[in-house]
Amino acid sequence: MSARVLVVEDDDAIGAPLARTLEHQGYEVQWAHEGREALTTAKTRPPQLVILDLGLPDVDGVDVCRELRAMLPYAGIVILTARHDEVDVVVGLDAGANDYVTKPFRLAELLARLRVQLRDNLSEATELRVGDVVVDVTARRAFAADTELELRPREFDLLALFAQEPGRVLTRERIMTELWDEHWYGSTKTLDVHVSALRRKLAADPSARRPVITGLRGVGYRLDVQ
Ligand code: CA
Repeated sequence: MSARVLVVEDDDAIGAPLARTLEHQGYEVQWAHEGREALTTAKTRPPQLVILDLGLPDVDGVDVCRELRAMLPYAGIVILTARHDEVDVVVGLDAGANDYVTKPFRLAELLARLRVQLRDNLSEATELRVGDVVVDVTARRAFAADTELELRPREFDLLALFAQEPGRVLTRERIMTELWDEHWYGSTKTLDVHVSALRRKLAADPSARRPVITGLRGVGYRLDVQ
């Protein structure tokens, strides 16, 4: 599986050759021209790497960086800044970026920095297996046999939590506390909705040893392997 890179750059003269080179290098490239578009893209298909220009037309690149970091705790984020703008670099790193490259940059240098981020990611990689399903916690991707499951962020979180303790009952309270908010209260209906969606997606997996989520009325849920 190739690493997915999100390029956030409004300048075509920089973004186009960058996207082309990354594709040649075997990366799966997503290119957003604006900050809001970048956040939507990252939410729909979370990348492992982000190249983020801080000078964006719609929103402050630093805010985008902060939101991306919150959304993608394990992604490698490399920011692009104007030359000699040390304030940008410091603020960007504070906002959660892992590294920076100043414009104008050489593609070779940027590629080298991306490889470092991927290597750092891989050294912390954790893969969980339940039956024929592999949950790559670092990359936030899950595969049934070799087909990727298209999971929403919360569905992925649920699957990762279940996959840590297959065969054990997870109470509703515990799931809510771990995945939503430690101060949650009231209805856990949203949990049922997400479990239903995840269950449907797992059921669509044709492989022999697929995980099944069993509901225990009033208690919680359990993940079993058939
Ligand atoms: Ca720009």
